[in-house]
Amino acid sequence: MKCHACSQGEVVLKAEPGRTTRYKTIPNLPIPADLEMRTCDHCGERWFTPADAKRIDAALEVVYRQELLARVRAVLPAAKDADRIERDLGLSRGYLSRLRSGRKIPSEPLVAILTLIHQQPSVLKLVEAMWERPAA
Ligand SMILES: [Zn+2]
Repeated sequence: MKCHACSQGEVVLKAEPGRTTRYKTIPNLPIPADLEMRTCDHCGERWFTPADAKRIDAALEVVYRQELLARVRAVLPAAKDADRIERDLGLSRGYLSRLRSGRKIPSEPLVAILTLIHQQPSVLKLVEAMWERPAA
């Protein structure tokens, strides 16, 4: 197939390491090196049939979930703080240890708030203060 972007290249199935793409929240998610994508051999434009899109999304979802898990594991609180953080974030007891063991995939908002708490522990005090009802 001729490339409709540059009108010069040929669109071929191509797999190579080092590619990234935006996928959901991550702007530069690594694309599996062995994942074939229809790519123009001249301008590099990628083309997708509906079947391609479905196959590629499925592969990227696997990488994305691994990435969420790796990120949350890097910022999980010490065991001594886990109960308090679970309470303040409204998580069920033991949820953080289920993340640690990889039995749960965290949501993006949870990865975000745990990262903020990890980077700036005073954020937890702000969360606690946020839940306090204002005096009448
Ligand atoms: Zn092209």
